[in-house]
Order: sequence, then C-alpha cells, then structure tokens
Amino acid sequence: MLILNGKDVAKEVRSTLALRVAEFAKKVGRTPHLSVVIVGDDAASHIYVRNKKKACESVGMTSQIIAMPTKTTQQELNKQIAALNTDSSVDGILVQFPLPAHLSADEVLKLVAPDKDADGLTYASLGYFFAGKPFVKPCTPEGVMTILKHYGISVEGRRAVVVGRSNIVGKPMAHLLTEANATVTLCHSKTNDLSSVVREADLVVVAAGKARFLGRNDFKKDAIVIDVGMHHDGPNGKLCGDVRTEELEGWVQAVTPVPGGVGPMTIATLLQNTCLLAEKRAGL
Ligand code: NAP
Repeated sequence: MLILNGKDVAKEVRSTLALRVAEFAKKVGRTPHLSVVIVGDDAASHIYVRNKKKACESVGMTSQIIAMPTKTTQQELNKQIAALNTDSSVDGILVQFPLPAHLSADEVLKLVAPDKDADGLTYASLGYFFAGKPFVKPCTPEGVMTILKHYGISVEGRRAVVVGRSNIVGKPMAHLLTEANATVTLCHSKTNDLSSVVREADLVVVAAGKARFLGRNDFKKDAIVIDVGMHHDGPNGKLCGDVRTEELEGWVQAVTPVPGGVGPMTIATLLQNTCLLAEKRAGL
C-alpha cells in the first residue's frame, strides 16, 4: 500500500514557490502579501493563523495578522475587509473562521473580493470556479489534485466517489475531478447504501467529517483513498481521519495518512494561491 505523503509534496510545492516568490520580487519590487483577519480569542484559531503567517514567511512572502477583539461589530469587520479589498499592498485576504457567534460568515463570504480571496471560497470566487474561470481554486481540493499529480495518478476515465458535499471540500473536489475527466459521484448523509456506492470507485475522497467512519469493507480492491477528515479522537487521543487506515494494508492501492496527508497540502495551496493572485494583479 502506497502512502501518499502530503508532507513531502507540500515541501516540494513550497520550494518551487520560494523560487516563484523570488522571481516576483525581482520583477515587481515587493513580495506577495497575505493579510489574515482574526476576530476574538479562540486559542486554536490563533495557532492556525500564526502557522499561516510562518508558512508565508517560509517561502519569502509577507503576512500580517489583523487581530480584532471579540466585541467587534459586523460593521467594523466589513469596514476592515473593504479596506483590505482596496489596499494595493495586499494580494491575498483570509478571514479565519469560525467567527464569534454574533458575526455573520455569510457577510464575509459576500465581501472579500474574488481577486484577493486566497481561500477561493467566497461566493463570487466559487461562482467563477464552477464556471471554469477560477481566480484560484479552493485550497483543500486543489491540494488533493496536487498530491494525485505528484504521484502520477491519473483519474481520467476512472470512477471517483466524493463523500461529503460542503462548499469547502466536497463540491469543489467533485468539480476538480470532473474537470480532470473522472466520472464522479457525490455522496452525502442522505445517500442510500453509501458503502455499495463507494465500493464502485477507483478513487474515493472521504470528507464526511466523521472520525474513522469508513474501513476496508467499504473500498474496492486496489482503490486509491484520499482521507480529508481531521479529528482529535483517534486511539489514545491522537489525530485521525475519516478512514480506518490500519485496515487497508494489502487491500487498497494507496492512501493519504492523517496526519501528514491532505492537511499540509491545504496550507501549501493557500501560499500558492496568494502568489498566483499577486502575479495576476501584477500582470505577470
Ligand atoms: P462539513 O461541512 O461538516 O460536511 C460534511 C459532509 O459530509 C456533508 O456534506 C455531509 O452530508 C456529509 N456526511 C456527513 N455524514 C455522512 C454520512 N454518514 N454519510 C455520507 N456523508 C456524510 O465538513 P467539511 O468542512 O467538508 O469537512 C469534512 C472533514 O474534512 C472534516 O473532518 C474537516 O475537519 C476536514 N477538513 C480537513 C481539511 C484539511 O486541510 N485536511 C480541510 C477542510 C476540512 P450532508 O450535506 O447531507 O449533511
């Protein structure tokens, strides 16, 4: 069973990106810049945001964290986003979710300009993406496509099943696989006999958000399994995914581990997206 090592792929993506960033700086006279807005004091979110800043710096990009207090009003948040939309020194904007309960994610997803949306998840960005004219592609599904490409796994003409239909993972994943000429089935919590549908697939992307949900009997022999899930309730409190990976040895062809699979690619793709947006804005 081949382990699709997202950590290694992410490292490679970052070193290619560092060269691109240096080239950008030479031509444009500044580095691509990501602004990250965080509201409130959720400890985990602050760690994620600091990691994103560090990741930017690791490839030579700059990043600024705009930390707003929990009591921030919707109007203040909207004003901050509008200012970033028009600030010519900002290439990418990311608003860290979840927001405090009194603030609306919906408003944010309507407001961030698609040509600065580093996550590729605002309503306008998704519209362009599904119409086949993306500014950038949503990070996690695009990260999965990069893993497949890295390992020379072609999906053309093959049966793919995506489990989960969120705007963040499932739907854009199904779209990218369709664009890569796979024949795609998108499953969700109302799918009848999920296991029999999944067993038909050559490639399965599992993004149901249910810890250790699918195992050996759910997959066809020699399937390729991409586990997007991320949970803190594995054996001994360890990080685990949506798949019981330990059951798959000798059965599936390849699998992404958790941790070290899709996760590192999400952040690497965020950096790639920021650089791409900067290049587009600079007319490169
Ligand atoms: P989400 O918004 O909760 O969506 C989960 C999807 O799974 C929904 O479409 C839901 O169906 C479907 N589902 C739930 N139970 C199911 C079942 N029993 N059978 C079939 N489908 C079922 O989650 P998400 O944001 O897409 O994230 C999914 C997982 O990926 C989470 O564990 C999350 O932490 C992880 N994630 C990881 C990364 C990363 O970088 N590795 C990035 C993003 C997300 P309905 O639509 O019918 O409710």
